[in-house]
Amino acid sequence: MNKKIQSALISVFYKDGLEPIVKELARLGITIYSTGGTQKFIEDLGVQVVPVESLTTYPSILGGRVKTLHPSVFGGILGRRDVETDVQEMAQYKIPEIDLVIVDLYPFEETVASTNDEKQIIEKIDIGGPSMIRAAAKNFKDVLVVAAKKDYAAVTELLQTQNGETTLEQRKAFAAKAFEIVAHYDVAISKYFNTNNPEAEYFLHSEPKPKTMRYGENPHQPGVFYGDLEQLFTQLNGKELSYNNLVDVDAAVQLIAEFPQGGDVVFAIIKHTNVCGVAARKTTADAWSTALLGDPESAFGGVLVTNGVVDEHTANAINEIFFEVLIAPGFEEAALNILKSKKNRILLQLKQLPQSKEQFKSVLNGVLVQATDQGNYTDWKEEGGRATTEQEKADLEFANIICKHLKSNAIALVKNKQLVGKGAGQTSRVDAVRHAIEKAKQFGFDLNGAVLASDAFFPFNDSVQIAHKAGVTAFIQPGGSIRDKDSIDYCKENNLAMVLTGMRHFKH
Ligand code: 5GP
Repeated sequence: MNKKIQSALISVFYKDGLEPIVKELARLGITIYSTGGTQKFIEDLGVQVVPVESLTTYPSILGGRVKTLHPSVFGGILGRRDVETDVQEMAQYKIPEIDLVIVDLYPFEETVASTNDEKQIIEKIDIGGPSMIRAAAKNFKDVLVVAAKKDYAAVTELLQTQNGETTLEQRKAFAAKAFEIVAHYDVAISKYFNTNNPEAEYFLHSEPKPKTMRYGENPHQPGVFYGDLEQLFTQLNGKELSYNNLVDVDAAVQLIAEFPQGGDVVFAIIKHTNVCGVAARKTTADAWSTALLGDPESAFGGVLVTNGVVDEHTANAINEIFFEVLIAPGFEEAALNILKSKKNRILLQLKQLPQSKEQFKSVLNGVLVQATDQGNYTDWKEEGGRATTEQEKADLEFANIICKHLKSNAIALVKNKQLVGKGAGQTSRVDAVRHAIEKAKQFGFDLNGAVLASDAFFPFNDSVQIAHKAGVTAFIQPGGSIRDKDSIDYCKENNLAMVLTGMRHFKH
């Protein structure tokens, strides 16, 4: 909607460049209100001006800190011309409408650049100016805001060509610009307050600082990390975490987060984001040795994680193998002395679990964001030939969690809360089963009575058949295949247990 400007409030720090616009306002017969210095400048041009004090009934006080902050000024800017109660109240309190606001803020950044005198700098934080700009910009339906000196010429021309009228779109465009100017102004103030302030670091966790890595996944790929590791870990020993270390540490922490402290001690060995050994036991030492037995070959150079405290006995055992990173919520002093014997070995004390509820992945020319995979099952439907035994039930739950953290297609074979075989990142589910069985056999495991978890449904019953022939007696899977019945029937015919969870855990 076009609006004709009847009144203007001008309060500018730098007066140069103001003359043409003031003269144009005068030519159009627009009432001009103004603050001290600006008022004098306008008067000197021979143009009539109403001092803002006649609106506020107050002089400029507190050394200029309070000049325009008054309901008469802000009411005049913010009052909605088409809202009856606003119009009534403005009449009741004798608040004149202000249709144009021209402000040039105190030069904060310039002052910071020219002096170290904090007192002087603080006084150059404009309060009334940004408030008037924001008020006028908010009420763009009725008010035009000019918040930058460089816009004077354009606005003068606009007033000339449109005879003091502006369109809604023009006012909205100036309002957008105005908010940008105020935002920039406030950021500059915030930055100044944080400069040379040691406390600022502590409070500024929200601003992730990019950390240049030695390189990305390979030496020819540059890499950067955005985030704050110190919130999560205290690094007790070793070199800087590499890009690949971080990827594996993430996988390790996500897995161990499934096993809260206080229950069984869980130890896991991660390689290339997949777990190659994991076990739950009563002591850290037992959990470690059992996890390692799952695949002692793959463990070489792995990332190790536990939810238990690493004691001397465990440290001595771990010390035997080469590993990149060890993450634990606590280390006994004697254990630390042993583990610190190799200076590159990274030891991380986990202080808290990551709280992120979102995951990001770059694809094509964009980014995918998804909620993290919380929860493990929505159902527990025992659909096989018989109910699960207590031992199978415990192993199935354990296997299901492990499987969730393996790359799809994923199969986990578990016996007595020890991962005895896994197939991960396979292009067919049945291949993942074959691979898991092969691994178990390679390390001498007897699969009789073992359980199997699958991250997604079985499209055919071949996987169940192959696993059964290898000795597996219970299965856990989400279900949802049109051929679920084939797998279930096979279990019924062969007295095998099968649990359907209703929750798929793809991880690509
Ligand atoms: P003048 O030179 O006209 O006396 O003052 C103009 C300057 O004062 C402008 O930069 C304007 O943003 C600022 N200003 C206007 N009202 C107030 C106020 O109430 N408090 C403060 N701190 N600055 C104001």
